[in-house]
Amino acid sequence: MAEDNVIARGGAESARAPEFDAVIVGAGFGGMGAAIELKRQGVTNIAIVEREDDLGGTWHVNHYPGLAVDIASVTYSYSFEPNPYWSRLFAPGAELKRYAEHVADKYDLRRHMTFGEQVARAEWDETNSMWRVFSEDGTERTARFLLTATGFLSQPRTPDIPGIKTFAGKVIHTTAWEDGHDFTGERVAVIGTGATAVQLIPEIAKRAAALTVYQRTAIWVVPKVDFAIPRAVQKLFARVPATQKAARLVNTAMLELLMVTGVLHYKQFKLGNKGAERLAKAHLRNQIADEELRAKLTPNYDFGCKRPTFSNEYFATFTKPNVHLETSSIVKVDPDGLLTADGEKTEIDTLVLATGFDLWDTNFPAFEIRGRDGKDLGKWWRAERFQAYEGITVPKFPNFLTLNSPYSYSGLSYFTTIEGQMRHIARLLGEFKRRGAVTFEVTDDANTRFLDDVTRRLESSVFYRGDCSTSRSYYFNHAGEATLLRPRSTPGTLREMATFPLSDYEFTR
Ligand code: NAP
Repeated sequence: MAEDNVIARGGAESARAPEFDAVIVGAGFGGMGAAIELKRQGVTNIAIVEREDDLGGTWHVNHYPGLAVDIASVTYSYSFEPNPYWSRLFAPGAELKRYAEHVADKYDLRRHMTFGEQVARAEWDETNSMWRVFSEDGTERTARFLLTATGFLSQPRTPDIPGIKTFAGKVIHTTAWEDGHDFTGERVAVIGTGATAVQLIPEIAKRAAALTVYQRTAIWVVPKVDFAIPRAVQKLFARVPATQKAARLVNTAMLELLMVTGVLHYKQFKLGNKGAERLAKAHLRNQIADEELRAKLTPNYDFGCKRPTFSNEYFATFTKPNVHLETSSIVKVDPDGLLTADGEKTEIDTLVLATGFDLWDTNFPAFEIRGRDGKDLGKWWRAERFQAYEGITVPKFPNFLTLNSPYSYSGLSYFTTIEGQMRHIARLLGEFKRRGAVTFEVTDDANTRFLDDVTRRLESSVFYRGDCSTSRSYYFNHAGEATLLRPRSTPGTLREMATFPLSDYEFTR
């Protein structure tokens, strides 16, 4: 039921009032961060709609063996909700899921959440200045604000390899992991060598009788300096939060250096990028003596074109007698195995798809969204370039905040993106309330200015200055543009999100 709230009522006396102040689609860390900020701003009548059966987003969906964060946990968490009790520098996935549950409880978010409901489309209702949000099951909600927090890596990609449907054994995508599945003694194939595969492959290799890894594109892997955090340190973090804050600061600064010099300012700091590449090559040399195998595992594109990974076990796994790296391309899947272009057939029992996610076809946006005059967001992005002002709002889409949009990803930890967006929401809604507004909408000019700025800044990045032609990186869309990352330092992003000119928005009463 709608609560008595200034924002829900707005100034439109004669128009129909929406049922909710805000509908948030997605109950992962992005959606929860947005809900926390909305509540701080007095927007309390919120519905959070989640397609999965529980909260946590990525950290609910993914539970494959070996899953852990690859950004140190002191940084990969909300700055305003530190967890002193991470068991390791890089916490295992299950701890992230528990942390998500803790946040939901502490900030009283669960009562807003509906699970197992997939939003199908949303449209702006001009007459009533509200969003109409429709779910696959026929549920309709109306809201003053619509926020999408549907994730970047949330639409699993299943490869369309000929014959894959005829495979007689088990097929497991990493996002649909079967916890009970025992690989002991099995002949297993893993397709893919991205960040997921890098964590998973060493785990499967411990049990499988034979493991064949099908690699299409090699990945840069650097050492992971990981260790258990002693109880005494956890207690110190709990008793003196400033100590954990200091640890966060140091770690975030190191990540920032890597991101800014290695990726965003490749033109100016090529040496930083090449240094990271040398580190990864030395890591490979230390673990693999066989020159031919090493050559196969060495990427032929610049470091940073694709998200680099961190592992101490990945390369070494390929030296085990039960593990084979296959670089010949897959021609087809038969009921009993995989055939490669070199004519070799490998018989297997289980096929693991570590084939990642579709960002540019079924995501951006994750469902149909129509703004003013029926403008279709997905079609517009594809026709007119992917764009979003400050990575969060779009002209002709009033009262809409798109949290996983082009140029929104800032820094290496996703929490930087979330907290920047929370600042943007605070400033925008603060002004909205001050004016007693009914709608906000970013101006065309502001949007174009932001797009021009990020386009210019990206010219210095490894994406355009380096050699990414063979990387097959999901950072690039179909038009060959790298429209995912915001080309700014983390402090720069956070500052901009808290100080953007209010004149970049039009408010109506
Ligand atoms: P990904 O990086 O997109 O990797 C997918 C892999 O599957 C690639 O090696 C790709 O090869 C391969 N592949 C896809 N279709 C194929 C086909 N038809 N034939 C052969 N190979 C195919 O996906 P991901 O590993 O799931 O990782 C996605 C992102 O999730 C990461 O970049 C990271 O941001 C995040 N992640 C984070 C963590 C963490 O923090 N702990 C862990 C896992 C993932 P090509 O490269 O040739 O396309």
